[in-house]
Amino acid sequence: MAGRPGIILDRDGTIIDVVRDPELGVVTTAFHPRQLRLLPGALEGMQQLVAAGFTLAIATNQPGAAKGQIPWDAIERTNGALLDLLRSEGVPIEALEVCPHHPEGGPGGDPALVGPCACRKPAPGMMTKLARTLHLEPSSTWVIGDTPSDVTAARAAGMKAALVFDPRRCELCPLRGGPEASCPSTRPDLAAPRIDRLAESIIAISARADR
Ligand SMILES: [Mg+2]
Ligand SMILES: [Zn+2]
Repeated sequence: MAGRPGIILDRDGTIIDVVRDPELGVVTTAFHPRQLRLLPGALEGMQQLVAAGFTLAIATNQPGAAKGQIPWDAIERTNGALLDLLRSEGVPIEALEVCPHHPEGGPGGDPALVGPCACRKPAPGMMTKLARTLHLEPSSTWVIGDTPSDVTAARAAGMKAALVFDPRRCELCPLRGGPEASCPSTRPDLAAPRIDRLAESIIAISARADR
């Protein structure tokens, strides 16, 4: 029997916004529940996907503790608060996978988390684990992310790739030439500025595939 159709979402830049400190001029990922800001269309899109019968999960690289920048318990608390927030809005996340590793680490980083691993995207380790534990059918499962490494991880796991791509937010990213300009391994099946737009297309494509 074929597995279930799934949606595996990236966290930062996909579901929630990055945190900008205008005074210090730095951009970080959210490390406190107070910093959680859902991106426009994210909640609506996830609600549509749940209603259409997809199993939702999150797969996120969080190297902050390996780099000595964010305590591990702050990362866990923030992830927990995000799951609570989504659940309260009718979006159950059935599993959340975190890669806590970083290949080089940083000053004060936890040495146990430094080094190569099979889970840090673009490696597909988190995707294949979620497929196994949630009984997802890779060919009818979509990875939704915002970077080329999300697309590469999806491809390596045999899944489809959808990109939250807003040209206005991407002046420095490798996709600034547009998703079509990238090489095949990082070219998504779908791209749109918001998850709700991606959800409409994903639902239409999976309905066609079912016929
Ligand atoms: Mg991201
Ligand atoms: Zn890892």
